[in-house]
Formats: sequence, C-alpha cells, structure tokens
Amino acid sequence: MKKLFSILTPLCFFMSFALNSQVQPMPICGYDHELKKILEKNPNFLDFQNSIFENAYQKQMLLNNSKRSIVADTEYYEIPLVFHVIYKTSTQNLSSAIIMSQFNALNEDFRKRNADTTGIRSIFKSLAADVKIQFKLAATDPNGNATSGITRTLSAKNTFAISNTGAYSEDMKSTANGGMDAWNPVKYLNIWICNLDFGPGKLGIVYGFAVPPTGAPNWGGNGNFLKDVDDPLSGVVLHYEIVGVNNPLSPAAYKKGNTATHEIGHYLGLRHIWGDGTNPFTGQNNCLQSDGIFDTPFARESNTTCPSNRNTCNEGVDDKPDMTENYMDYALDVCGAMFTKQQAFTMRYVLQNFRTGLPNRKINYDTFPDYSTNQLLIYPNPLKENEKLNIRINSPTSGTFTIKLIDAVGQFIEEKKYKANQLSVMDTNWLANGLYFLILTEENGTVIQKQKLIVGY
Ligand SMILES: [Zn+2]
Repeated sequence: MKKLFSILTPLCFFMSFALNSQVQPMPICGYDHELKKILEKNPNFLDFQNSIFENAYQKQMLLNNSKRSIVADTEYYEIPLVFHVIYKTSTQNLSSAIIMSQFNALNEDFRKRNADTTGIRSIFKSLAADVKIQFKLAATDPNGNATSGITRTLSAKNTFAISNTGAYSEDMKSTANGGMDAWNPVKYLNIWICNLDFGPGKLGIVYGFAVPPTGAPNWGGNGNFLKDVDDPLSGVVLHYEIVGVNNPLSPAAYKKGNTATHEIGHYLGLRHIWGDGTNPFTGQNNCLQSDGIFDTPFARESNTTCPSNRNTCNEGVDDKPDMTENYMDYALDVCGAMFTKQQAFTMRYVLQNFRTGLPNRKINYDTFPDYSTNQLLIYPNPLKENEKLNIRINSPTSGTFTIKLIDAVGQFIEEKKYKANQLSVMDTNWLANGLYFLILTEENGTVIQKQKLIVGY
C-alpha cells in the first residue's frame, strides 16, 4: 500500500476480534493470531511497527539520493537456517529431498530467480525486486557439531493445533513439550515443520505463522514482548503438507513452497499487503489500512485467487489493481511471484537493525556494472573498530586515482593511490573513532568526490 500510516487503533482492533472471531473461517496464515497476542501485551505495537516502516522508507529515500545507494545495493545477506521436522507419523517426517526443494525455492524467491516472474503483470513487473537475501543450511549446530541443517524429532503429539478456530500451541518449539528447542534464535533462522491440522475435514488449519522482531531496540515498549529477537519462540512454523515444491501431500494450490516465503516475509517485518485491516480474521478493511509499503497498491482484503482485473480499492489517480502476485497476499502458490522494491528494502532494513546476529554481509560489487563515471564506493560505512574498509573506484578508464583521508575539521591525514575497477582494502585499524572524509582525486589533483566515513559506532 502507499505510504499512509495507520489510523487503525488497538481499540477497534480488539473490538473486531470480539465481534467476528467466532464466525469467520480462519486465514491460512497465523500472523493475525500472533499479532493479536502481541497487541494484548503491547497495545502500542502498531505504532512501533509503523515507525519502522517510516524509518526504513526515509532511509531508502536518503540512499536513493546518494551515491551510497550503490554500495547498499551491491551487498547481499546470507542467513543460516535450520529445519526442525517434528513428526508423529512417517508421512509427517518429510524426506530431505522435499525439504531441499523448499530450501532451493526460498533462495530463488528471495533472489528473484523464480521462473514464475514471467507471470507478473506488466503493470507490476518493474516493481519486482531481488531482495538480495539468501539462505544457507546451517553447517554447525549450536554446540559446534557438524549438521545437515535438518533435525528430526519424533513426537507424541498428534497435532499442534488446539482448536478448530485456528488456535495452536507453540509446543513444537519446546523439547520438553513434544517439539524441538530453538537453536540460538539470534544466530539461526529456526523453521519448524509440524502438523497444524486440527483434524480431517475440520476448519481451522493454519499453514504457517511467524511474527516480526517486536522486541527489537527502537520499537519501544517495556521489553516484555512476545517475540523478542532472542526469544526462543522466534522463527517460522510451517504445516508439513505445504512444505516444498510439488510435495505430494500439498493441495493443488500449494505446490510451490511459497508459504515459507510468505512467513519469512513476516519474520523479516512485512505485513500482508491489505494492511491487516480492521478485521484481522477476514482481513477486510475500508481501504485506509496501510501495510506501510508505498509500492504495493491498496487492497481491501486478501485474495486467494488471481483475477487479473480485481481492484478492491480505488486509489484515484494512478489507481492500480490488487497486487495478487505479491508473496504477502494469500494467492501464494497460485500466482505469488514477487516482493516489491520497498518490501525488499524493508526486510533488509530489519536485518540490518533488528536481526543483526543473523546475516553475514557479503560484498558483490561486480554485479554493479555502471562504470560510466568515476566513483568511489566504500564498504562498510559506518566502520566498526578494527574492521577493514573495502574500497572500489569505478571508472570508465582503468587509471589510478588518489584517495586523500582528512579528519572532521579538514586536517590532512594521509593519501594513497588506488587502481580503478578493482577491490582494494584500506588499512583503517589505526584510526581513532570519529568522522572522516575520503576525497577521490584524479592524478592531476582534480577532486571528483568527497565521501563521509564514520569509524566506530
Ligand atoms: Zn501471513
């Protein structure tokens, strides 16, 4: 949805639960259920969540107007994950092949390598983003032992659903209660695979659930949140029948593994594209509930099918149909095929600021092909104490350039020459914490660019 921040109040949120929770069918995703539990603990949570979207948006705009955006765009992140399979029957004990198909699908979806991007309507194609987040199976467990990244736990529990209203326990996350304790949730993305079905033919199945890192710094509150970043409940839960690609157990509409993609979207801070309106169970709203994302069109409610002309909210000028292609809608495996650019930015922002123990940052300058102007790229910035500064000078010629280092008051510190179009490392270990400037100059002394560098933070 476009940038329109919440006019939803916790009060009307709870009222809608009271009025509707007994009569509506459950959604396939348990996010709303999780959100309700968070709001009971912290009624101001939506305001905090909105501030995250606002801050991420402001940062994105800042970067878009800065040469540093190029550096930001050439980083990608790799998240170690572990699948915990909790099973009672051999059918629930999914094969490694099925789990690997899920793992591969996640990497395709988050790197925009999924084949089904061809189905994205032309009106939305340019918004589809490479999130530049990748996943790797954990190679070592928390005790330092080698692992396949898949654990298997035989459980006495028939199901982790506890009623046909879609309520479920979180016992799958507890060894003592028939599940498997999380691996350090700061360091690993834990994905539990278990049975969430209440019973054959019963309403109430939830295919997955996850919540954003609500207890992260700057999100306010008293610290007593349900799902802090280091909370052992933090992670993603998936119903075993919808895991993987072409899982023989999956209903026809859930054959691509997109539920996992959707839930990791929540885990990294995203809401549903209809903004989780005034009625969290039906998802309906008055077209004024924002998901905090400016490049997803407004939608009044979720879509579970993909009609090309469905447009539940008239946005006036620049009106667009509902973005059923978005992974954060409910059409998921039918036509879900994209995150938008701002959704991608927001997830990366959450990683950079709230789930900071998870990602390994990587530099991938070579994916940036624009050498049309002389340009200094540095990474990372701000620079931690004793961290190396990577430098690259992009240039249409392959000459040598000088980089002068000056301090915050303009005092010269040193200068060195660097070859263009290759990655170099600048020794900055000896620099005291503070603000510096790097000045890129041509060999004849012409100043090309002044770049701020912060050391220590
Ligand atoms: Zn959801």
